[in-house]
Amino acid sequence: MPIDLKFCQRAAYYKIRKGQAVEVLNLRISREEILANDTAAKNQVDTRLIEEWQTRWDRSSTGRTTHEFFPSIARRLVYNIELDYYVTQFLTGHGGFAYYLHKFNARNFTQDSDLCDCGQTETADHILFGCPLLRRKRRRLVKAAVEITGEWPCAKENLVSDMRIFKEFRKFAKWYILWSHR
Ligand SMILES: [Zn+2]
Repeated sequence: MPIDLKFCQRAAYYKIRKGQAVEVLNLRISREEILANDTAAKNQVDTRLIEEWQTRWDRSSTGRTTHEFFPSIARRLVYNIELDYYVTQFLTGHGGFAYYLHKFNARNFTQDSDLCDCGQTETADHILFGCPLLRRKRRRLVKAAVEITGEWPCAKENLVSDMRIFKEFRKFAKWYILWSHR
């Protein structure tokens, strides 16, 4: 949660504990409501703060690749997944991909082309979904996605919301990043 919203939450929780009326981001909860049910009051505060966070996330001009994987903050908060170094590169598009390395002229990489060995532009999406050279390596991931969602490419959110698909995604990401740095 962004730090300013975290502060709002802390201040609101403090007032709720003291049995005082709360006002946060146009949400008003009266003293009577809080005394009747303080847990419900806290939930109302959280819901309002997450709404605000979601609005900012949708409007932000940065992190758009990550937004495709995590469109909903409320759902993201319940996914029980750990993002490692390898998966993160796919979630952000920033990593060992020729397109990224070429565009940002990353240090220590002399990438004079943004093309993959197959001839197409090497983006994170290309590696994950499209590159024909990686078809065999992607097989288990595709199988899990098709069994669970019925399609490939599946929605990016499915890659991080279903544990079985995520496990295969994580393995693929790790294999690819290590292999491409060989
Ligand atoms: Zn390729």
